[in-house]
Amino acid sequence: MSLLNVTHLGKSFGGNRAVDGVSFSVAKGELLALIGPNGAGKSTTFNMVNGQLKADTGSIQLEGQELIGRKPRDIWRLGVGRTFQIAETFGSLTVVENVQMALLSSDGLLFSMWRRAAAHKRDEALALLAQVGMAAQADRPCSVLAYGDVKRVELAIAMANRPKLLLMDEPTAGMAPKERNELMALTKQLVIERGIAVLFTEHSMDVVFAYADRMIVLARGRLIAEGKPAEIRDHPKVQEVYFGT
Ligand code: ADP
Ligand code: MG
Repeated sequence: MSLLNVTHLGKSFGGNRAVDGVSFSVAKGELLALIGPNGAGKSTTFNMVNGQLKADTGSIQLEGQELIGRKPRDIWRLGVGRTFQIAETFGSLTVVENVQMALLSSDGLLFSMWRRAAAHKRDEALALLAQVGMAAQADRPCSVLAYGDVKRVELAIAMANRPKLLLMDEPTAGMAPKERNELMALTKQLVIERGIAVLFTEHSMDVVFAYADRMIVLARGRLIAEGKPAEIRDHPKVQEVYFGT
């Protein structure tokens, strides 16, 4: 059974149909890649799923519950997580403090209360950090971490809310090939161990073909192909969009 069902999703900006009647589903335990050239509508699709943008048409259902019309916070509570960039949030806190914060906010605690309550969450935060291979660096400030390590912490923070579906928009942007592979292998491991689903966008075809269970391809707001990596690689419409052949 599908975890997420998207049907006939549409969004226009003025006269520009950024997303034009897109339908797809995401199954539990699946790493699904959303690819397409720049401006294809990938981020717009993501932002409709997490509630930052309201769809004009269609439906987005998580386990049968309609998400369109709900606030981002409610969608997050229902189990749609996304990775945030730490740099934008709490770079001055230590690694473990960042994860403790995330655990507290998933309990609905206010920021002003966090310092007192955080102590109770340290063990739980360390367990999450161990899963992403960052326990040894728990007490370092996030601001001094290597880029690939920051990405691991972001993943631990996203997992703190125990999402059913995790959205990752270009998670490996700006990373060296080795770091990319480590992050995607880790993501795949979390999908398997926790039985969650991940929907991600990615520029590197090497990464997509190596890690995605399935792919959907957008071009100019429309879904042009869908299937396993081997099927997509040889798909004539995909060849046309990417290589102009
Ligand atoms: P992708 O993530 O695949 O590169 P986007 O979803 O960001 O593509 O953009 C799809 C189309 O929608 C593009 O033509 C883009 O210019 C347009 N677009 C995206 N966001 C906005 C916005 N907030 N206002 C106006 N146009 C937008
Ligand atoms: Mg984008």
